[in-house]
Amino acid sequence: MNPLLHPPGHSEESEKLYENLESMYRVVHRKLDEKGISPESMGCSLQPRKTELPLVSINRLRLPGDLTRELLYSVTDELKRALECEDEIDQLLHQAELDQTRASEFVISQLIGNGTAEYTSAELLHLVAVLTVRPFLSWLSEHVNAHKAHPDSWLQGNCPFCGTVPVLGRISAEDGRLLLWCWLCATEWRFPRMACPYCNGSAADGQLFFTVRDTPYRVELCKNCSRYLKILDERRLPEHEEIALSWIMNDLLTHHLDVLAWKEGYISPS
Ligand SMILES: [Zn+2]
Ligand SMILES: [Zn+2]
Repeated sequence: MNPLLHPPGHSEESEKLYENLESMYRVVHRKLDEKGISPESMGCSLQPRKTELPLVSINRLRLPGDLTRELLYSVTDELKRALECEDEIDQLLHQAELDQTRASEFVISQLIGNGTAEYTSAELLHLVAVLTVRPFLSWLSEHVNAHKAHPDSWLQGNCPFCGTVPVLGRISAEDGRLLLWCWLCATEWRFPRMACPYCNGSAADGQLFFTVRDTPYRVELCKNCSRYLKILDERRLPEHEEIALSWIMNDLLTHHLDVLAWKEGYISPS
């Protein structure tokens, strides 16, 4: 059995959830293209970057209301089935009384933590928001080039596109360099190998790592800030096996690495 595709704790049910999400996301991308929606109309600048700030502010995003609402309901239907939480989800959607104009505002506010506390479960709402916002942000990141023009000029610990702090990266088989991967918008960017993306500590400050035996995974631990980065070392992948970092890998297939890091006393970076 391939340890990469079948890590511990991963169920068929959760794999099915991500398969279904991916096909919903493809529909969202297609509809955004077909409707001729512009990144600018969603609150995203096409101008070259002028500052050292990420290109978009999540709290300024304006997602298309109809598509957001449609996806939100598809995502919640999937979650009801996969997590068996029909009552909780129905209750929160009932309370939110979503119409098209509020759908974008609703998911963005849940995502950045400004949602009202009267809804049922903060964690569930955050999950719904993340799963709903992802395809819009990945579409924007694909269609805007300002953050990609100079890949060596960013080198910061947060996403050059949306500012999110990453939890996963890969060491490129091509040149051994580290690329961080954004769990929200799927952007990749380069980062120095011997530094911590969370506190900018260097190897001299106490960067450690452990590898998971017989797999291409490693976890880099920072003694300085007690956070950790999960890494897929592509140089250790079986020959001819290429694998792109993905949301299912970020959320589920590397969860065993989180558990190992937690046991060592390290805390999740996001
Ligand atoms: Zn991002
Ligand atoms: Zn650190």
